Amino acid sequence: QAKKSLGQNFLTNPAVINSIVTTAEIAPGDQVIEVGPGIGALTEQILAQGAKLLAYEIDGKLIEVLTNELPADAQIKILHQDVLQTDFNKDFEGYFDPTKPVKVVANLPYYITTPIIFRFLESGIPLESLTVMMQKEVADRIEAQPGKKDFGPLSIAVQLDMESHIALNVPPSSFTPAPKVDSAVVQIVRKAQPIRLPNKDLFNKIVKVSFAQRRKTIYNNLKHLVGQELQTIDDLHELLRAAAIAENRRAEQLSIADYLKLTELVDAK
Ligand code: SAM
Repeated sequence: QAKKSLGQNFLTNPAVINSIVTTAEIAPGDQVIEVGPGIGALTEQILAQGAKLLAYEIDGKLIEVLTNELPADAQIKILHQDVLQTDFNKDFEGYFDPTKPVKVVANLPYYITTPIIFRFLESGIPLESLTVMMQKEVADRIEAQPGKKDFGPLSIAVQLDMESHIALNVPPSSFTPAPKVDSAVVQIVRKAQPIRLPNKDLFNKIVKVSFAQRRKTIYNNLKHLVGQELQTIDDLHELLRAAAIAENRRAEQLSIADYLKLTELVDAK
């Protein structure tokens, strides 16, 4: 019996499983993390590519089933852990080479898709790519460009360092039980030259504050920096003028370059 509260929708379409593994371009010896192996439909195919696999599963019952299914010599370390709580560096010890790239391959639990993606992007591990099944709506947010209503903190976080594309659209019928929403496999790969960002915390704060109330103007949202990063309201007028951003624009109309410029200017104060 699948647990809905844990986002358990098991993949039953072999063509989709095959497509995830092919998209991930796993070579023998690659270090791969899987989130939520479940009973192993995807796990077995990842292992068949010769990957060295680290898997996080929160449901102990499923781990029992999975362990019985796998051959004894499978190159896998299964941790009974919440992927949002775990310490990757500790988990890597004695298993993964921390200097070598890591690929994430998963059919994600949809109730925590966005936190999982943020977690991997901010983990500091040598993340090379994520090849992940998610609800279509989140895939659209990842892909969204400035000016679109889906454009937001997730789009910015991904697009800063990574390039992404939707590899496959997947209907509910490919899972058991069928999820209520459409799905997509998204391939997210680190850019050859990620943007250099000296003050990432400040950047993240400015993005967060800008999108705090989407219906408000950028000026009204950034007012929350006054008394913190900015001293007076005049500093805010000056900041927007220096960044060449009209005060009545909205957060989703600004480009990543605009947010970088704002960060640079605030940081220089
Ligand atoms: N990989 C399997 C498949 O494709 O058939 C199962 C995918 S299912 C969509 C999501 C899996 O993530 C479930 O096995 C669920 O128990 C597990 N899961 C849910 N929350 C988790 C968490 N916080 N940390 C680790 N695993 C989690």
